[in-house]
Amino acid sequence: MLSAEIIAIGSELLTPEKSDTNSVWLTERLNEIGIEVKMKTIVGDDAARLEKCIRDAVSRSEIILMTGGLGPTTDDITRECAANALGRELEYHDEIEQHLRERFRAWGREMPEINKRQAFVVAGAAILPNPNGSACGMLIAENGKYLAIFPGPPKENQPMFLNHVLPHLDKLTGDVYVRRRVVKVSGKGESAVDEVAAPIYSKFSDITTSILFNKSEVEIHLAARADSPEKAEKIAAEAAEEVAAALGSAVFSTNGETMEAVVGKMLAERGETVSTAESCTGGLIAERLTDIPGSSAYFMAGVVTYSNQAKIRDLGVPVEIIEKHGAVSAECAEAMAAGMLERAKTTYAVSVTGIAGPDGGSDEKPVGTVFIGIADAHGVQTKRLQIPGDRFLIRWRASQAALDILRRRIIHHDTSAETASKG
Ligand code: AMP
Ligand code: MG
Repeated sequence: MLSAEIIAIGSELLTPEKSDTNSVWLTERLNEIGIEVKMKTIVGDDAARLEKCIRDAVSRSEIILMTGGLGPTTDDITRECAANALGRELEYHDEIEQHLRERFRAWGREMPEINKRQAFVVAGAAILPNPNGSACGMLIAENGKYLAIFPGPPKENQPMFLNHVLPHLDKLTGDVYVRRRVVKVSGKGESAVDEVAAPIYSKFSDITTSILFNKSEVEIHLAARADSPEKAEKIAAEAAEEVAAALGSAVFSTNGETMEAVVGKMLAERGETVSTAESCTGGLIAERLTDIPGSSAYFMAGVVTYSNQAKIRDLGVPVEIIEKHGAVSAECAEAMAAGMLERAKTTYAVSVTGIAGPDGGSDEKPVGTVFIGIADAHGVQTKRLQIPGDRFLIRWRASQAALDILRRRIIHHDTSAETASKG
């Protein structure tokens, strides 16, 4: 199997503010054609370190992909360092300069002289055009090795990789294709999931599996390997479907989708609508639902009723309920969902009230106590949860649980409608 390594360049990638996502994306693309990533490095804008890093990479790996540091400013040093590490010259390309001047003119600006730096290319490299930015990429083939250099922004390097580098690499690897599926499971622990799933996926000899817990869901990652993309896809899909069938309604996706995307799709397909009434999640459920393009087809309204007064005024929660049971109670969640359903006139209304902490817990209702309500034309149901974790996790998991309860309610609607029409 061919081995690759990735070098992400940029001092900003070494701060807490910015993560290197390029290498994640590139790894996924490489894995799909059967190339394994053996190593990743993040280097700041430091010439000596970068040069050394490129030399080392060339000495050990067959495929080296680099992103970043191709900008026009003096802190962008990838060109120079690559040329030095490879013992090659930088060549000035007049046609690149002319092209850059035209680009700037098309924006109604003159090209700053500093951009001339971007017309330098490592001698012998193939130039990779960049329709989405000013820095062109480079592909250098040497002694059966490939070294590609891409600009940092994903919207520039992704098309460049797909159009100009992937086809070369695909030829190198011959007939090895990998396709992945991610089965997502909610409301079950890792070991409970694996107990059911392991006997199934271990039957498949061309599949590698990993199971991980991700904030509020268990994910089963299946990677199928075959000699054609279609075969790999088929094996991955078969394994995912078998695992999903064994786990039943706890599985919400066999294709890696988020809970909000799955719920959104279900609502859209049925022409149904939803509204939300949130307390401790502070609008997180509404945010997650509206994060999905096209959500205006099914998401009608959401309110954040954080105070008792807001719950009474905006949702019509009876003051007696709050006095008798408290704002964090099944009764309050029920009244919130019912009040929202009545006001928004949606198919479903979801409510959440709970204690996200770190303060506010009691013996009877410790931090992490969350009540979720779901209302529809058949009535209102509530569920009490005891959610572990810190404030962030409690809020996130509460939003996930609420979306999952909505998902199960939609499925329940389907099955009860079926029984009704049969009966
Ligand atoms: P550069 O080519 O170094 O001028 O990078 C330009 C921009 O690309 C940076 O400001 C980042 O926002 C983005 N970028 C660079 N490297 C990465 C990376 N490894 N992952 C994600 N974004 C990146
Ligand atoms: Mg940079």
